[in-house]
Amino acid sequence: NPNVTNYDPIKHATWKHKESVPYSALARTFDEIENVSARLKMIEILSNYFRSVIVLTPEDLLPSVYLCLNKIAPAYEGVELGIADTIVMKAIAQSTGRTLAQVKADVQEIGDFGLVAEKSKSNQKMLFKPARLTVRGVFEKLKEIAKMSGSASQTKKIEKIQSMFVACQDEEARFLIRSLAGKLRIGLAEQSVLLALALASTKTPPSKDYPPKVLDKSKTMSSDAFKAEYETNSLLVKTAYCECPCYDEIIPVIIDLGINQLPKHCHIRPGIPLKPMLAHPTKGVQEVLERFDNLKFTCEWKYDGERAQIHIDGSSISIFSRNQENNTSKYPDIIHRIDHCKTDKVQSCIMDSEVVAWDKEKKQILPFQILSTRKRKDAVEEDIKVQVCVYMFDLLYLNGESLVTKPFIERRILLREHFKEVEGEWCFAKSIDTQAMEEVQDFLEESVKGNCEGLMVKTLEKDATYEIAKRSRKWLKLKKDYLDGVGDTLDVVVIGGYLGKGKRTGTYGGFLLACYDKDNEEFQSICKIGTGFSEEALQKHSEFLKQHVIPQPKPYYRFDGSLNPDHWFDAMQVWEIKCADLSLSPVHRAAIGIVDPEKGISLRFPRFIRIRDDKNVEDATTSQQIAHMYSSQEQVKNQQNDAKDND
Ligand code: ATP
Repeated sequence: NPNVTNYDPIKHATWKHKESVPYSALARTFDEIENVSARLKMIEILSNYFRSVIVLTPEDLLPSVYLCLNKIAPAYEGVELGIADTIVMKAIAQSTGRTLAQVKADVQEIGDFGLVAEKSKSNQKMLFKPARLTVRGVFEKLKEIAKMSGSASQTKKIEKIQSMFVACQDEEARFLIRSLAGKLRIGLAEQSVLLALALASTKTPPSKDYPPKVLDKSKTMSSDAFKAEYETNSLLVKTAYCECPCYDEIIPVIIDLGINQLPKHCHIRPGIPLKPMLAHPTKGVQEVLERFDNLKFTCEWKYDGERAQIHIDGSSISIFSRNQENNTSKYPDIIHRIDHCKTDKVQSCIMDSEVVAWDKEKKQILPFQILSTRKRKDAVEEDIKVQVCVYMFDLLYLNGESLVTKPFIERRILLREHFKEVEGEWCFAKSIDTQAMEEVQDFLEESVKGNCEGLMVKTLEKDATYEIAKRSRKWLKLKKDYLDGVGDTLDVVVIGGYLGKGKRTGTYGGFLLACYDKDNEEFQSICKIGTGFSEEALQKHSEFLKQHVIPQPKPYYRFDGSLNPDHWFDAMQVWEIKCADLSLSPVHRAAIGIVDPEKGISLRFPRFIRIRDDKNVEDATTSQQIAHMYSSQEQVKNQQNDAKDND
């Protein structure tokens, strides 16, 4: 498509300056994106659409970005689309004069609400043409629908959907209905949208003039200089999004002030969750000592609970999950007790901590499974049965100042100076600062006896800043599981199911799992799994997964035909699993091209541990991590050394 690289944001747009962006322009962009598989092309196509919006109707950039991500608000606001399937099907039926049974049958056969809607629509003759949909209008209506609740809401939702649906033309119906069902799935991950924004505003910087002086900056400078500027801008956008994952803040800055003003306006502050720092796995005390050679470090107990980012801003307190979801209403007990631990010196702060289930009588930590029985939302303090203790381990912001660039040793002092411990409610993560191997080993064993998962080992002075959103080498995790050989459990996505036989007839007997390749934004098969499940768990998984069956694998699933499962699933759920070791595989595609040009990596003896509700599918273990885990296995290292010796 010559328009992709030679796109003129004014000439090629289908609307005029100051007009509302027609929804058809976005739907066409989605259609083009869906039909390419190269990520760079997707980014370029989307950035061209953004460029037209920036030049012609900049106020529509924000709704456009949300619609691309199939979101209507930042994660922490908790307003979600994803209207029940039956409502969507009823709306399609009622708008097209078909029966619900016919629509249902089509959905069963085709598997994609969007295509069913498009097909139903194309059979329909219209007496008069309703006004065309706009990006702004669709976005507003989606928000209204998401906010509707109560007994009469179903009819109202259907009416709203119908009012948009009748106005759809061509591919609009497909993407509108998919968006409503929360299943846009065009293979566009958040990172690509961020890059498209950076590319668009590098090529066509937002301007108050119309037409702007620069329509395509890449044509006015050398390709190296342009590349450098795009890289700088990408970093600015990505950093702003990590510190302040809220497009309502980011987009107006890009449009009104320019991309280089992002650091000044979109930064860490209480009330907006930031993406957490993550750790690298290691396989033993020896490896920790080698990695942190000459660096001062501390070892902390690694508590097995749920990460909690606690934000205090005067009297307002919020708690966010690892994924920036708002967990405030889950923990009224913690909110109530905040004054027990906070000293008068704190006006505002962001604290990083782990919430753990706590046995009040025995005064001990309880396993994660107990914590997971707590109500997830709108808990009432009097009804809470599982008590929790908060283990505080970091302080990222204090009284108007970000602490993330300070070394951990200073952050820890501030944490301990500004907060107090209260037994069974608030504790500092247990730690020792030692470089002695035996002491680390003893501390690890102690942590396991104390019902912890192992240790977190963190640099203290040098190279010890808080790295937002990064899996950093300054934090190492040392889990008790390292004794089993691999060093860590893996978080993988369920993409297929094999129907059970014998006792397991009627449920799935096995599943196809995949890791996530961040560079190519695809799910790569890594193993089949059939063990570790209780019969009850299998039943539950089957019930859940049967609702997410799709007729064909997504274009962004990588697998070998010999693995074809009985049912494919939409990538929806992350499972934590354990395995004995990792080996090269001719059929699985995980990390293909990283360790071996043709072979992928698979897991031997995988066992199911638990569902990871706090992770999105894009947070699954990545191919890069798998490749790293594979290569750091002793037998692989030895083989590589042997090969070198023989050279
Ligand atoms: P990922 O590394 O992808 O986050 P994960 O969510 O499975 O994987 P773990 O591998 O279990 O996380 O390790 C990091 C998590 O450990 C943190 O996100 C936090 O929830 C928890 N944790 C418990 N104790 C600590 C501690 N002392 N310091 C930091 N994190 C801790």
